[in-house]
Amino acid sequence: MLLALTVLQTPGAFGWGNEGHEYVNRVAAEHIPAEMPKFLRHAVAEITYLGPEPDRWRSASEFALKNAQEPDHFIDLERVAWLDPLPPGRYEFYRKLYEKRAATTDHPDDYLPERVGLQPYITMEVYGRLKAAFREYRHLRETHKPTGPVEQAIIFYAGWLGHYVADGSQPLHTTIHYNGWVGPNPNGYTTEHGIHAKFETTYVGQNITAKDFAKFVHAPERLADPFSDYVAYLRESNRHVEKVYAIEKASGFNGKGSPEAFDFTTHRLAAGSQMLLNLWYTAWIESATNPEVPQSTGPGLP
Ligand SMILES: [Zn+2]
Repeated sequence: MLLALTVLQTPGAFGWGNEGHEYVNRVAAEHIPAEMPKFLRHAVAEITYLGPEPDRWRSASEFALKNAQEPDHFIDLERVAWLDPLPPGRYEFYRKLYEKRAATTDHPDDYLPERVGLQPYITMEVYGRLKAAFREYRHLRETHKPTGPVEQAIIFYAGWLGHYVADGSQPLHTTIHYNGWVGPNPNGYTTEHGIHAKFETTYVGQNITAKDFAKFVHAPERLADPFSDYVAYLRESNRHVEKVYAIEKASGFNGKGSPEAFDFTTHRLAAGSQMLLNLWYTAWIESATNPEVPQSTGPGLP
């Protein structure tokens, strides 16, 4: 019984399905500008392959891995409406959530970090790895040393990052309504556990190709503040949650789907590719600046 409950409460849906994740990475990779390293522009196939990579880490046969990284794929923004802005580091976020949980009598476990989700934190952590690798690449080039190994690391980080950014453009990865409407339901949206996979996997796989949204993606823009810009992107995605339910209610994701479903989905996928491209570009630009900023002395640091 307990096991059954645990299974039911674990978000089982994967986020855009295989095709959607490949498309988001591919379209972003095809838009890498000439001012970024050539090896990366030539890594479209590798970056595309890596789009679904973190979904390959969700098998029960690798329990520790599955357990540790499952919350990376989503964030239930409604549960943290009281926490704006979100703190920039994951442990500060944990602390706020545990304080909230301790002060809550009605379903306090809803505030456990693994229930709320850690989407923006894993994204910024992988972004940080990418930026550090770009910095290393610049240093090796400047000192005329081989760059092959760091190029492989950069391609991996860039592709890995794409997974979470794509999850973030899927509105159902930002909400408590991730797979069936919960709570008050005046519009009579579906409460069945099925809308998530129907939208992101079945509908996308059968009706959308990368070409359908590549034209909506433009040259990258440097993000002024990657974390807050990324959180704003998640909040924007969350504003589209009800639209997914309205389209589903109108049978828009059935079979060949409706024109509205196509327009909506292609623009969501494009938003994912655009944010990914912007993050890659910003990491590249920022990797040129001197990282020797004073270390913060948080708890546990000397
Ligand atoms: Zn995912």
